[in-house]
Amino acid sequence: MPPIDDPFVAVALGANQPSAAGSPRETLLAVRPLLEGLFTRWSAQQLRFCWSQLVETTPVGPVDQPDYLNAVVLVEGLKAPPSEAAALQLLDVLQGLEQQFGRDRSREQRWGPRSLDLDLLFWGELRLDHPRLVLPHPRLHLRTFVLAPLLEAMQGSAPP
Ligand code: ATP
Ligand code: CA
Ligand code: CA
Ligand code: CA
Repeated sequence: MPPIDDPFVAVALGANQPSAAGSPRETLLAVRPLLEGLFTRWSAQQLRFCWSQLVETTPVGPVDQPDYLNAVVLVEGLKAPPSEAAALQLLDVLQGLEQQFGRDRSREQRWGPRSLDLDLLFWGELRLDHPRLVLPHPRLHLRTFVLAPLLEAMQGSAPP
């Protein structure tokens, strides 16, 4: 067992528009192994992934959009200490995956519908106030659609 204070990464996933993979549910199911593979390559380590279930939630922001499907994954076993440079790399990886599933940020309204949203919630106790990356995620504590799956993932992984 690793020490209990091993810093872990938490990522929030959301989708409410179809992607090339299909419905939001199909998107999030397709993303799961890809995200695990990308994290493993990024860290060059054996990692453990704790997934919440997929939860259906009411949108925040513009209300005339479909419900969301949300999930949270915890990534455990990272040996490298949290750092700004590594966290920015991770954001690039996540944004690349969003694009792979058809996300086009240039054509969106704020908090509008999207095929895939991947947010970094936190990485251990790293605090960042970078123009591209704020950690912990500044709206984490306000959002039931993030907090509920986060708590669930912290209690153990759901089956795929
Ligand atoms: P919210 O951040 O309120 O959940 P959003 O997910 O709709 O809103 P996006 O349009 O997906 O916001 O992203 C806008 C920018 O937020 C991104 O280009 C990214 O650089 C920046 N950003 C800052 N902090 C984070 C973070 N913790 N995780 C992901 N992106 C972040
Ligand atoms: Ca946006
Ligand atoms: Ca978001
Ligand atoms: Ca986002």
